[in-house]
Parts: sequence; structure tokens; C-alpha cells
Amino acid sequence: MFAKVASFGVRGIDGFLVHAEADLSGGLPSFSLVGLPDSAVKESGDRVRSALKNLGYTWPVSRITVNLAPADVRKTGPVYDLPVLLAILAAGGQLPTPPLSQAFAGELSLDGSLRPVAGVLSMALSARDNGVTEFFVPRPNAAEAAAAEGLTVYPLDSVAQLAAHLRGQELLQPQPPTPFLPQYREDLPDFRDVHGQLLARRALEIAAAGGHNALMVGPPGTGKSMLAKRLPSILPPLSLEESIETSKIYSVAHLLPSGSGLACRRPFRSPHHTVSAAALAGGGTNLRPGEVSLAHNGVLFLDELPEFKSDVLEVLRQPLEDGSVTVSRVSGSVTYPSRFMLIAAMNPCRCGYLGHPTHPCTCLPNAVARYRQRVSGPLLDRIDLHIQVEPVEYEALASRQGGEDSASIRSRVTAARLIQQKRYEGLGFSCNAHIPAGLLRRFCPLTKGAETLLRSAFQSLGLSARAYDRILKVSRTIADLAGADVIGESQIAEALQYRCLDKEIEYTL
Ligand SMILES: [Zn+2]
Repeated sequence: MFAKVASFGVRGIDGFLVHAEADLSGGLPSFSLVGLPDSAVKESGDRVRSALKNLGYTWPVSRITVNLAPADVRKTGPVYDLPVLLAILAAGGQLPTPPLSQAFAGELSLDGSLRPVAGVLSMALSARDNGVTEFFVPRPNAAEAAAAEGLTVYPLDSVAQLAAHLRGQELLQPQPPTPFLPQYREDLPDFRDVHGQLLARRALEIAAAGGHNALMVGPPGTGKSMLAKRLPSILPPLSLEESIETSKIYSVAHLLPSGSGLACRRPFRSPHHTVSAAALAGGGTNLRPGEVSLAHNGVLFLDELPEFKSDVLEVLRQPLEDGSVTVSRVSGSVTYPSRFMLIAAMNPCRCGYLGHPTHPCTCLPNAVARYRQRVSGPLLDRIDLHIQVEPVEYEALASRQGGEDSASIRSRVTAARLIQQKRYEGLGFSCNAHIPAGLLRRFCPLTKGAETLLRSAFQSLGLSARAYDRILKVSRTIADLAGADVIGESQIAEALQYRCLDKEIEYTL
């Protein structure tokens, strides 16, 4: 007696078709599960046996072999409990064999109820592409599965419900399709609460408009993290494609809130400086996505940048360069997308008060240099904007007047992004921060005056070739915000302001 039931697994953030095959044959009663299962999958035999008994079915007294095909791909997690149970029941003739156009996923409780599993959105998208028309999932996963257009999703609370449906006794209600509603909620942190800080606000607007990475340098208590938290509120809304990518990552990490559909706002991740390299890049036994992937299409904020361990910061290099991260473990390697805006913050020195108007700095001169050196050159090279955040003036605080609200800033950012999308159509990148070095000249034309200014600044400040490229890209964004085709003097002058760590002018001792 043999039965085959369709299910899905996840590798990286993509789903793949798995068939749970059960065979009952004569011989001594036994149970074996094959097909490269991990320990959670191996234990599924025990859960299935108890669930069957508690549901009133009988555990077949025969030699039971369950194979999860394809056998050469590692299977992880408890997602195969439900298909394994169905295959055993069908092979024993206790339930009709479901057609292969129906697929099943879910973890079993011992009483036969179903628990949510990770990665259902990826499975649902893969199910649709593999010709599956009906997908049965635990109820908390139904909303994400129903985001796969054209797939009928049935939410399940228990195996008993499913058995009644498969026998045609009591039919289940399909889940309504999940709509995609990118919207900004009023309770998000807004720039209107930020007092003063005109320079930093402007710099973050530029960062958002061009997709630039930025580093804020300033004494403690100047509102660096307050500013960073507000950055997602001025980024353009997620597109459907971006939302699906981000939601898949959260689904695989089992972090999609229960019952929720697609992500509708950009993620903001701010790992503490004690974070490990594995937690940042991803990994662990199940090869879970790390912080750099959870920040995909959003913002990764690293506060107290010099406090991060150097091997942790090293991890950022590949994602910043390629927009993806490859995680390798004994069990294999997977690649996760990780294109984020890096926003970092640091004090100007260890005590934090170097350059402060009223508070004296207590650091020794070489201690300042050592503190700065903890942020390595290669990382600094990938940061376009260095923003000096000054202590807020008393007048700005006393006036109790907030600044411009995020919605107004966002409309300018969105307009600038549209200009870039049009300009770079078909070139494989969509914002100024990602212009390849070879195309900079073509896309960043300068006026005569701008050219002269840039040359003299380059010579007098001793800027590196990399800094030169960064200034061109940032000035391109400033020009886009102003709606200008050719980059002018004022735009170059403004971009030069955002290289304070190159110049070391403000903080020379
Ligand atoms: Zn100091």
C-alpha cells in the first residue's frame, strides 16, 4: 500500500516541492523516515503517532517507510508533520489520497491540532508555480499564504477538520486573498518631533533620496538614534515586489506576526553592539536570516559603531557590496538578500565630548585616533555621508516648535527617486548610491564652476579617489532633489560638507 502527498520546503527564501511518500508492507512493525531529515523532521514520527491515536485513528501495524522526496535536499523543521500523517493514513486506506494539486504544510500538536510553521509565504509562491491549486496551512499562516495570487488557501485548526473536508463531509471555507496595502501609520516616529538639527535632517533627506549610507558623528544626547528611527518614515513606500521579498525573509525567520499578510512598511533593525557575527549575517543550525537580511529594503541602524567587534563589522562588507549575504554552515550554504541603507552613529571620541561647546573632552590625543580607527577604512569607504550632529541649541528646544513633518519630506524624496528610476531604467540599479564607478562621468555632468570647485577642494583637502566618487554621487542626489539635470557649484559645496571624517577639519586637535 502506497500513497504520495504534496508538500513544500524552504531553502534560503525560496520554496521547493516535496513529496511525502508512505509505504506500508508486511514484516515486523517498524517506522523509518528517510530523505535527509534533520532532527525536527525525524521527531515528526513521534508526533504523528500520538496525534493519530488521539484523533481516533489506528497506527498501522506494519512496516512503515516514509520518504521525503527529493531525497538529496536537506529537510528542516516540523513542517512535514501534516503531509506525513496524511500519507500514512492514505496508505492505510483510512483516508482518501488527496490529488497532487493539493498541498499541505503544518506542525502537529499531540492532540491533532495544528501549529504555525516558518516560510509559508515562500512555499505558497512555489506551490502556485508548481501547478498546485489548493494549499492547506495552519490558520495563523493562512494570511501570508493567501498573498500568492491565484492559489486557493484553506486555513486549518486541526486534522479532524481537514479529514472531514477531504471526505467531503464538511467543507472548509477558503481564506480570502490578502490585499497589499502599503500605508504609513500615524503612530510611526515622525520628523516633526525633532527640534532643531537642520543639518542632520537635511543630510538624512539626501540619504533617503539617493539610497546613501550615512554615519552620524556627535556627542551623546544629541538625538542621533532619534533621527535614525525616523528615517523609514521618509523613505518611499514599499513596492509589491519589495514587500514580497521582505515578507519572505520574515516568514522564513518565523518573525511575521501571526495572521498578518505582507509587510507594508520598511523594516528598521537596530542590533545592539554586542551582537555576534552570526546573528548579524544569519546562520545557526537552521540557517536563519540575520539582521542584515531582516533589514532588506529598509534601514540597518548601528549605534555606537566603534563598539562593535571588528569581525562583526567585517560581515557587513559583502551585503554592502552585493546586496546579498551568503551563509555557510556544515549543513550547507544559502544566500539571503540584504540590500539595506546603513545608518551608523558614533561619538566623536571615547568620552563623547570632543568639539562640544561647553563640555570639555577628557580623552588623550592618541586615544581619539585609536577610537576612530576602530571603524575600519573599508567600511568607512562605503559610507557616502558623514553627518555632524551638534548639541541642540537652547532656542530650538525652548521654542517647542517641531520641524517639518515626515510626509512633506517623503514627497520630495519620492520625487527624486522617480527621476533616478527613470534615468537608470534597464541598467540594473535604481538609485544614485549604486551608480557603478564606470558610469559616474556619464550620469554626473558638472557645470564649469562645479568642476573648478571640486578640483580645488580635492587638492586643498587631500581627498581620496573614493571620496571623490562619493561626493559626485551625493551631489547627484542633491541636484535631483532640486530637479536639476547638471550638477552645479552649490550642490558640490553641499556634498563636500558631508565628508567631515575625510577632512578631519572639525576635529583636529
Ligand atoms: Zn573625549
